[in-house]
Amino acid sequence: MHLFALAADSMGGRQTGDIGDWKAQEWVAQQFARAGLKAAGEGGTFFQVIPFRRIAPDMASRISTSTADLAVRADFLPLGQMPLPLDGAHAVFGGSIAYPDSLVDSATAAGHLLVIAVPDSLRGLRRIFEGLGPVRQTPAYRASIGVAVVALDRFAPDIIPQVLAGVLRMDTTFSPPPGARPLVVITPAAASVLLGRELMTARRGMLGPILRGGIRYTAGPLPYPARNIIAVLPGSDSVLSSEYVSISAHHDHVGFSGRPVDHDSVYAYNRVVRPMGADSPMRDATPEEKARVAAIRDSMVRVAPSRPDSVFNGADDDGSGTVGLVELARVLAMGPHPRRSILFVSHAAEERGLLGSSWFTDHPTVARDSIVGEVDMDMIGRGNATDLPKGGPGYLEVVGSKRLSNEYGALLERVNAGEAVPFSFNYEFDVPGHPLQYYCRADHYSYARFGIPAVALSRGEHADYHQVTDEPQYIDYGALAHVATLVRDFTLAVANLDHRPVVDGVRQADPHGPCRQ
Ligand SMILES: [Zn+2]
Repeated sequence: MHLFALAADSMGGRQTGDIGDWKAQEWVAQQFARAGLKAAGEGGTFFQVIPFRRIAPDMASRISTSTADLAVRADFLPLGQMPLPLDGAHAVFGGSIAYPDSLVDSATAAGHLLVIAVPDSLRGLRRIFEGLGPVRQTPAYRASIGVAVVALDRFAPDIIPQVLAGVLRMDTTFSPPPGARPLVVITPAAASVLLGRELMTARRGMLGPILRGGIRYTAGPLPYPARNIIAVLPGSDSVLSSEYVSISAHHDHVGFSGRPVDHDSVYAYNRVVRPMGADSPMRDATPEEKARVAAIRDSMVRVAPSRPDSVFNGADDDGSGTVGLVELARVLAMGPHPRRSILFVSHAAEERGLLGSSWFTDHPTVARDSIVGEVDMDMIGRGNATDLPKGGPGYLEVVGSKRLSNEYGALLERVNAGEAVPFSFNYEFDVPGHPLQYYCRADHYSYARFGIPAVALSRGEHADYHQVTDEPQYIDYGALAHVATLVRDFTLAVANLDHRPVVDGVRQADPHGPCRQ
């Protein structure tokens, strides 16, 4: 039932810097305390504050005409970090992104906000960015004060909270590339407001009404700090207890879009068109696929009415690993303590690029070289045949286990073979060069880059990955407990070894260099 609380809509998708993420941190710390673990964060607390500063769109930004008022998220989405003051300016219709050579000339664009249409066939943030490449070379772009691309209706909803969350850094200095112009993505309705007429009827060079307001960015500390939660179960051996085996998961997720979508429609569409959720490209369904989507949705609404949904609940990602971590704290604290100590780390800001685990391993609260091994759990609650083709009750993706220490990886296999129901390990995502880059995308890597044997365990991606449909009712709780049991037994085996796992793999020369899948 823990997961229903952690992944509730009231947690708002646990975006780093939001109150929902902060509530999740407090909850994890309470669970560690209740299990009887020792606080191992800063100043005798369970917490390690990460001093991020954030540059993000100011949600109070408005773009107004005498008759309408456009708002962030509903009407426009600022991209990049360049403010766009519009007081007294006009929008001009520049043409289509598909024909950059036919955009208006520099005299027509000069001093105006350049509105650019996007053909129906162009969908998704990446393809629109690619399309903007040639636009940036045009005289119209250079003469304009900013560019408004009419494409907000073409973005997958999971993009929106990521953009609004801004960028996290240790300082807030930002200098745009030379010649760059502020960029905003708008809805077709917002384009009509800016141009004073329907986009369909606009001709190149037409000016809209006078504008007020503009886009601002805020820079400063996060409203709610990002924090790692760190606890220790002390080992029983007087010498070896100064060494640690760490277990981790991440408590943050990607927030909420604020643009409600129909839950059952998204669920059905992704099952047919986006089998790996946000990792599958967004595209139009074929007629045959549309029929399948409709059939799935119909079967759902026959059971219960659908509902609007805008919260990325992150039940599997990584609510599943987080409740696994908390449960392991409880179970391991009750049993006889192993010889080495066990370090429990609930990482912050994984979704922002492993920032929490990077911070912890750069600023560890225990001696870094006293960590003899790391086990990360991320998305351990799905993985059945309905979620991925190779899925099933024994499915487990294992990444990184042998890269630094053959002994570490072999021990994991041996412990698994001794389980009541062993998993069959899928190593395909550990293959060097694999395009999905799982080795570099999980928090275990933050440890591995320092030569600490580390493994990432997951039951795999699915159609609800980074979607509003990643909800607790779709989790396989038996599978989640099964993974947690393996992690318990493996952690105990490492913690009770008479020597630390031998590092015989190739250590990365520079821990801060680029990750190589
Ligand atoms: Zn995750």
